[in-house]
Amino acid sequence: MSSKTLVLIVEDEADIAELIAFHLSREGFESRIAGSGRGALDSVNRETPDLIILDIMLPDLDGLEVCRRLKRDPALREVPIVMVTARGEESDVVVGLELGADDYVTKPFSPRVLMARIRAVLRRQEGGQPSDNESLTLAGGAITIDPSRHVVRMNDETLSLTLTEYRLLHYLALRPGFVRTRDQIVSAVRGEGTVLSSRAIDVHVAALRRKLGSLGAIVETVRGVGYRIGEEATVKSA
Ligand code: CA
Repeated sequence: MSSKTLVLIVEDEADIAELIAFHLSREGFESRIAGSGRGALDSVNRETPDLIILDIMLPDLDGLEVCRRLKRDPALREVPIVMVTARGEESDVVVGLELGADDYVTKPFSPRVLMARIRAVLRRQEGGQPSDNESLTLAGGAITIDPSRHVVRMNDETLSLTLTEYRLLHYLALRPGFVRTRDQIVSAVRGEGTVLSSRAIDVHVAALRRKLGSLGAIVETVRGVGYRIGEEATVKSA
């Protein structure tokens, strides 16, 4: 295994690909460039990268199809993917996230933002997801989620949440800073015998924010995509 982190850049616009490669090398990462979807699939079969930056608009197979194939391949499905999408194409973002992409940036992006997202995804990959029964804290410790007792405390008071509100908050808190689509939230929070539509999620989010009072803003709306817990609001408990 190479000691340097290897990033595959899938991008048909050569100048953008070179710019990304330049910034990756400044961060100490190694990179490869594939200029098409098929080129990307060839590249990953030769050499497994640690992360893939995947443009959605490609000349042959589009990025979503590439993502779909990678996530179907047991040898490659764990490789994190950061999508690059055109502004206004939130539906691509939703599909990509539901296919298993980790994150996205929107063109035109600043290299600094892209590098920050890459570092966040790699950190998460390395640290692993907290286990289902691990306690989590949000908002600098003001909010504590205790999965062993299904209890959320805010400033030492137990919040009276419905089971759906509790599951919603816990699910988003497992990946702070990363957006989840409504359908992902529905799959994660619906339980035995509960029927939940993706639009109903909006209602539960609104109720949850009300109960969180002045801290309600930690549950952020990502327009056209879904919801996330603001990253800066979150500290994983020891
Ligand atoms: Ca493109």
